[in-house]
Amino acid sequence: IDFGYERVSRRDKQGRVAAVFDSVADNYDIMNDLMSMGIHRAWKHFTLELAAVREGDRVLDLAGGTGDLAAGFARRVGPKGRVLLSDINGAMLANGRDRMMDRGVVGNIDYCLANAEKLPFADNSFDCVTIGFGLRNVTDKPAALAEMARVTKPGGRSLVLEFSKPAVPGLDKLYDLYSFTVLPWLGKKVANDEASYRYLAESIRMHPDQQTLQAMMSDAGFVRCGYHNLTGGIVAVHRGYKA
Ligand code: SAM
Repeated sequence: IDFGYERVSRRDKQGRVAAVFDSVADNYDIMNDLMSMGIHRAWKHFTLELAAVREGDRVLDLAGGTGDLAAGFARRVGPKGRVLLSDINGAMLANGRDRMMDRGVVGNIDYCLANAEKLPFADNSFDCVTIGFGLRNVTDKPAALAEMARVTKPGGRSLVLEFSKPAVPGLDKLYDLYSFTVLPWLGKKVANDEASYRYLAESIRMHPDQQTLQAMMSDAGFVRCGYHNLTGGIVAVHRGYKA
């Protein structure tokens, strides 16, 4: 497995990802706002609109962290619906639960510590499954996508919100410069943790591009797969349906 400039084993990658998110958990929300200049809120809003859930739906948010997507879903599915906020990392999930209470999201939300590669849910359980800025951290991405397809109900959909490949000429160079200078600098100044934010930049650069991820979703069993570029392709939202 490539982990930035080094090659490390699968187990090592999982351990290091865990260490990164243990370390960033407490500063996660403020760093998100600073690093994206607040734009991550618009990316998440777009994802929520594209998911088009209805009242009463059951939604699974994987790698949900502090729960921005889950909170939006909880409002949309209403009291008859159900949202499951799930993450592999206990510190992120605990922060997510606190944030949910602060937002007044209670009653139709549950929490689950789970690895996206091996989900503890029955087949065909959810109308909608999402993973926001999580897939690039998962070691076995095809396994995670196959699990998403398995637990999605027939007729339901899964969405992947993730950094992608800038589609505007010149933007990739500018973005690389930003990722490898400003991100680690912000990490050092605000969170006193340069290494974690350097990992973030490296994991973004190595994530599959739009077409590759679309093909991976088809291979996982989704149909009518497509994507939308956001902010010039810095981020993309992929959506696939279960037949
Ligand atoms: N979805 C949230 C958001 O958009 O703000 C949080 C994204 S955060 C960048 C990535 C999350 O992925 C972390 O909370 C991390 O613990 C989680 N994660 C990493 N590997 C995972 C895995 N194999 N299964 C589930 N979650 C994972």
